[in-house]
Amino acid sequence: MNEYDSNRILDLAKLAGYLQTQKIEDTDCYILNTCHIREKATDKVYHDIGRLKKQFLKRKKPILLIAGCVAQAEGEEMLKREKYIDGVIGPQSYHKIPDLLKKIEKNKIKINSTEFDVIEKFDKLNLIKNQSSKVSSFLTIQEGCDKFCNFCVVPYTRGAEHSRSLNEILIEAKELIDKGAKEIVLLGQNVNAYNDKKNRLSDLIFKLNELNGLERIRYTTSHPKDMSKDLIDVYKNCTKLMPLLHLPVQTGSSRILKAMNRKHTIDDYRKIIRDLKDNRPNIKFSTDFIIGYPGETEEDFNKSLNLLKEIQYINTFSFVYSPRPGTPASNDANFNHEESKKRLKTFQNFSNLIKKQYRKKLLNTEAVVLFENKMKDNVNYFGRDEFQNSVVVKSKLNLIGKSLTVKINKFNINTLFAEVVDRNYKAA
Ligand code: SAH
Ligand code: SF4
Repeated sequence: MNEYDSNRILDLAKLAGYLQTQKIEDTDCYILNTCHIREKATDKVYHDIGRLKKQFLKRKKPILLIAGCVAQAEGEEMLKREKYIDGVIGPQSYHKIPDLLKKIEKNKIKINSTEFDVIEKFDKLNLIKNQSSKVSSFLTIQEGCDKFCNFCVVPYTRGAEHSRSLNEILIEAKELIDKGAKEIVLLGQNVNAYNDKKNRLSDLIFKLNELNGLERIRYTTSHPKDMSKDLIDVYKNCTKLMPLLHLPVQTGSSRILKAMNRKHTIDDYRKIIRDLKDNRPNIKFSTDFIIGYPGETEEDFNKSLNLLKEIQYINTFSFVYSPRPGTPASNDANFNHEESKKRLKTFQNFSNLIKKQYRKKLLNTEAVVLFENKMKDNVNYFGRDEFQNSVVVKSKLNLIGKSLTVKINKFNINTLFAEVVDRNYKAA
């Protein structure tokens, strides 16, 4: 979502007369978009500011705005701690950037804009075309969270759940398709809680499925609790909906799920997976795990390892539990960071083993790849198969925006290497 937000921030900064630049010497304004989900993210912001200060040592100081969830959570403190910062802007206030930039330019004042104006934000954004011209484009449809998992800052930094109206979303989707998007990735902190009072995520996917020019639909991130029957049923009929679902589980232990306030059990999760497979037999899953949550025993941890094996996730994102200020779990000191780091290593090794076994089976099989861009080496093209695996292909012809059948002939843990075997390509 930060990538989507950053692009929209750029669209807004253009209204204030700014242009994007890659050159340091041209830079009059820096907007750093930030994430607060784990501790390291905040450290990174201060590190980036330090680097920036060095780069501008002998140049005119640029305006520096800190946007995103770190700004939301620590705004006032940041302004006090780091004088180089001119303004902090929360994720629900960034539509104000054109005005704020003008104020800072004129009056040289410090700005703290961390109000939760999500409705006003989307009203403003709806008036400005999304200028993204990517083959695979993000589209935010929902923001915020009412679930309050005990470890998570999102409900405090992004605010309450808000869904954009289906019509607004369809207008933006058409803009993206006109600019060349072949794939749309619907975004939300709880994307499958989408509800504009008339329509659910399933309704939106049905509508998108009918749009000419659009080939692929994905959505992320989903909460298991909101995998409703209508959404599971969509997998039967909507052929553009891709057969890879990112469904965070966090732990394999129902006891820890309860402690996290996730509001479902591992058996509930298993049932969702079964139902999805009934509707789309080839569907695969990726997930998030938190390792070393307060109170996690060896037995709980083993349950996480067992779940990896059972579901055969093709991708996992795993993190050591990071206590976040203000969240209920942060008061619970019953965790051991060093032990958790060891568990994380064991976990990631096992996850990679499963991933390698899966990838080995892909050798010499065919896949349909949507190509997104040419790589820096100028000979290879990058795309993704239906399961969102990264695929690299050497080609003399321009493959950008094309969906082609390829044969996989090599792999590593991050990338599949392939050759195009598509008849259309040979004819071209
Ligand atoms: N809404 C999504 C997740 C959004 S946060 C869901 O409920 O599944 C993205 C991921 O960051 C989470 O799935 C979780 O694995 C990780 N995460 C969030 N807070 C964390 C914390 N305090 N420590 C470690 N990982 C965390
Ligand atoms: Fe955070 Fe997701 Fe839980 Fe909401 S549902 S509190 S975003 S982990």
